[in-house]
Amino acid sequence: MFLRTLVLLVLGLFAAPLWAANCAATVEANDAMQFNVANVNVPQSCKTFTVTLKHTGKLPRNVMGHDWVLTTAADKAGVDEDGIKAGLDNNYIKPGDTRVIAHTKVIGGGEAASVTFKPSVLKAGTDYVYFCSFPGHSAVMNGKITLTKG
Ligand code: ZN
Repeated sequence: MFLRTLVLLVLGLFAAPLWAANCAATVEANDAMQFNVANVNVPQSCKTFTVTLKHTGKLPRNVMGHDWVLTTAADKAGVDEDGIKAGLDNNYIKPGDTRVIAHTKVIGGGEAASVTFKPSVLKAGTDYVYFCSFPGHSAVMNGKITLTKG
């Protein structure tokens, strides 16, 4: 009886984090100017979705800074271009840029930053991407958002 209760308790402990993990993703970036994943799955059933960006390198943010920026595939180039002009003080994002759906701040080695957005703003049939808006990074540091059912 005790053992059964213990098993149920342990299962319960694991069930909650696993469920929550569906509505969150971790993306790592490094000193070699790379993201560790090329795709992030976003379940449409999530009320909110949180992306945590971790910079696993050592270089400072003004040398090898990274951020995580979510836009439509069509808006990526324009957002990136305007972001470079906006400079590091603005996290390489044009202030008030409505094309940006979500973005973290620019971080350096050893740092982490999170951003939360509502998957309900993403429309089926539209291509969404994420990229790093640090100058010169987006051509290599980018990936796709896949909207999933469930
Ligand atoms: Zn970067």
